[in-house]
Amino acid sequence: MHELAIAESVVSAVLERTGGRVSVVRLRVGRLAGVVPDALMFCFELAAAGTALEGAALEIEERAGEARCRDCDSRFSMRDAFLLCDCGSADVELLSGRELQVTSVEVA
Ligand SMILES: [Zn+2]
Repeated sequence: MHELAIAESVVSAVLERTGGRVSVVRLRVGRLAGVVPDALMFCFELAAAGTALEGAALEIEERAGEARCRDCDSRFSMRDAFLLCDCGSADVELLSGRELQVTSVEVA
């Protein structure tokens, strides 16, 4: 499962940097990152179990993707994975939406 691998890497990165004295982990997830937040929350609990991060909360901030059309130069936010501008062009540059990053942690 994709989300479990992500959760495990988040847990090990946070453990490595903090030693695990953390009560909240905040994660920013682009809507186009291909991650299901509920599944990620569940997997985070699994990955944290038995480590110093056990019981820490995961807060997920979902971000819509942003794209720019190379034909008409308009910027628009993306609700789904289809890279298509309102003008009909698919010559679209993705500016954001695939990010997956820890934005902050709260030290317990
Ligand atoms: Zn356009």
